[in-house]
Parts: sequence; structure tokens; C-alpha cells
Amino acid sequence: MSDDTSALRPATPPTTALRPETLAVHPPQVRITGSTPLGVPLHQGHVFAFDSADAMADAFHSPDTFLYSRLGNPTVRALEDAVTRLEGGTAALSFASGMGAINGVLLGLLSSGSHVVAQRCLYGGTYAVLTDLAERWGVEVTHVSGTDPEELRRALRPETRLLHLETIANPTTRVADLPAMIAVAAEAGVPSVVDNTFASPLLCRPIEFGADVVVHSATKYLAGHADVLGGIAVFKDAELYARIRHYAVEQGAITDPFAAWLTLRGLQTLPLRIERQSASALDLAGRLAAHPAVAAVRHPALAGHPDHAVAERLLPRGGGGVVSFDLAGGREAGRTFIEAVRVASLTASLGDVKTLVMHPASTSHRQLDAAALDAAGIGPGTVRMSTGIEHVEDLWADLEQALEQAAKVS
Ligand SMILES: *Cc1c(COP(=O)(O)O)cnc(C)c1O
Repeated sequence: MSDDTSALRPATPPTTALRPETLAVHPPQVRITGSTPLGVPLHQGHVFAFDSADAMADAFHSPDTFLYSRLGNPTVRALEDAVTRLEGGTAALSFASGMGAINGVLLGLLSSGSHVVAQRCLYGGTYAVLTDLAERWGVEVTHVSGTDPEELRRALRPETRLLHLETIANPTTRVADLPAMIAVAAEAGVPSVVDNTFASPLLCRPIEFGADVVVHSATKYLAGHADVLGGIAVFKDAELYARIRHYAVEQGAITDPFAAWLTLRGLQTLPLRIERQSASALDLAGRLAAHPAVAAVRHPALAGHPDHAVAERLLPRGGGGVVSFDLAGGREAGRTFIEAVRVASLTASLGDVKTLVMHPASTSHRQLDAAALDAAGIGPGTVRMSTGIEHVEDLWADLEQALEQAAKVS
């Protein structure tokens, strides 16, 4: 056993040999000089040690010195910096999940009596948290379409504290007119928050259109491999970042370093995945539209989509991997279809390397009656598909055999 203890605190190496009980809890630390790890190192540690009391005191005020992982961690910071650059922002805050990021931003900006304007067609969790805030904390919420700036102008009030939009809405794939909507909010001094989960920064960078905050469920496209939950909020300016960070650090819904590390690993192939997913989604959307068992298909890059013109302006690099389509046979056909696919998986998520399908009317939205489904833009036979990176011909063969089985029950 070595009694070289110089690795404990390089500045002040102990002079006496330490006993095994002490050595066991102080393994030597490898300090790298002269080279850089090519992969981002996983700093799983939650706390950082200092060589002097002054250095530790300074760390309480310096966001660039790591002290305690709830306040900042090098692996988590690497993820925040990577997504900041992709979104063209100033700084980012990483959270334990997409909902963690959305709650961090909402609660950081709102107080009781605040008013929020949000898109009508929203991610279910966001809709639910806004409803809770309204019922329990006296925050008032007005829902608008996302494509009508005049409707937004009428909805704004002196106490409006934020506008919440989604680049591509779920499962309708409606595209919000970000520049027009954000401009109206900005005129009134209201910050805009855009959930860019469905588009990713490869297809749309909302900060270029004036958004103040971009949020993501990193669980979906950013990480992309069905093995991690995460969320991130990217800020256009440092002042808002500092305000929300202050609250987020107290809230504590931060990212575990391993989750950040997995997300960073996924992020490196994001451009390749998004390119393939968008191209395959559009290809399959075209084939679905021509199939007799399919009544309607929605993908932002498909001609005939209600927001096709907006999508051409906002999403010139592709309409994303999500396609939704209505089976002519209605609810039974939808249910049969999702049970008949073999390459695609029946699951609730999206943005994965694997193709995922779901049928809202018989799963996530089964409590809704026909009128409520209709109001949410969901038909009884609507299927949502999140296109993966498999070979497009294998995907089409799978969809085709499932469509044939669905046609038999209708
Ligand atoms: C999944 C999702 C969320 C929530 O993210 P989690 O990581 O599940 O908390 C928020 N917004 C959108 C658009 C999503 O798809």
C-alpha cells in the first residue's frame, strides 16, 4: 500500500502516513494536465472541495466555480452550454425533466394574481400545471390559438406575465406563428416562452424570432434513446436567466450528472437523427395520405397542412419526426392498428431512435367523450407516430400490414 498521500490536497500534502481506514475514503485523484478527455467526463460528485477558506467563500458568488451540485455541476454545465449554443441563447438551466423546466420557468416568472396567455393545444402536463396554478394560486390563464396575433392582442392584460407557445403542437402538429405572436407579446413587455421539444434547435431556433425562453423536454429528441428524463430552459438574456436560476436553485428540480451525461451523448447525433426522422416522416406521411384506410394525414411539411405556409417560413429544414393521421375506421381501427405494428412500439413518448405509435382515443385521452376529443383536435381514429431512424422501407412495410389489419375491423 502506498503511503503517498499527496493526492489528498495537492497544496498541503500530509507528512504522516495515513491508516487504511483513512486511505479507503481518500482514494488518489487523477488530475489531468497536458491533454483533454475527448468525451465529456461524468462528474457525478455532488460537492467540491477547496484549498482555502477564501476560495470557498468566493465560490458562493461565482457561477463559474463549482461548490455544490444543486447550484452547478461541470457535466450539467457542459450540457447547458451545448444546448445554449444550439439554440443561440445566452445561458441555460438544466432540470430533472421537461416538466421540471416548465415549472421552473412558470413559477420563476409568476406570482399570485398574474395572468398567463397560453396556446390552446398544449402538452398535457403543461395544460394541467396551468390549470392547477389557476385553481390553487390565483393565476389566471387565457388560451389562444397560436396563429392569430389579434386574438393574442385582445387577451393581453396589464397583469399578463408570460406567453407560452409550442413550436409544433401535440398531436395536431399545428405550427405556432412564433414571429407574429412573440412580436405582439414583446410590444406589451410580456416575455415569451416557447416549448421547442417537437422541433429541436436543428429545425427551429425560437430565440431568432424573439423568444425570451426556450424550453425542452430533453427526454425526447435531445437525448433521443429512451434512457433518460431531462429538461432544459435556454434564455435569450442574462437577466432573466439569473432571475429564474435564483428560483430554480431553491426549487431543486435539477439534473443528475449522469442524466446530463447521457443527454450530452445523445445530443452529438441530434443533427443526423433529426434529418433522417424528418425525411422519413414526410415520406411516410405522403404514402399514408394515398392509402385507402387513412382519412387524413398531418405533417407540417406536407402540402395541405393548415399551417403549411407558416411551416415553410419557420421550419425550412424539415417538419420534424411526428406525423398524425386519422384511420377511416375510427376508434376500433386505431386500437387494432397500434396493436398490429411490429417494428414500431406502442408507447407514450416521442423523439426516440425507435419509431413509436400511440392512439390517444383508446389510451392517453380515453376519458374524453367525442365532443371533448374534437375540441382537443383529436379524432376517434387519430394515431400519432414519432418516426425513428430505422430504414424507411421497413417502417412502411410495418405500417402497411397494420393498416390492412385495421381496415378489416372497420
Ligand atoms: C414530454 C413533453 C414535455 C414534458 O417532458 P418530461 O420530460 O416528460 O417532463 C413537455 N413538453 C412537450 C412538448 C413534451 O412532449
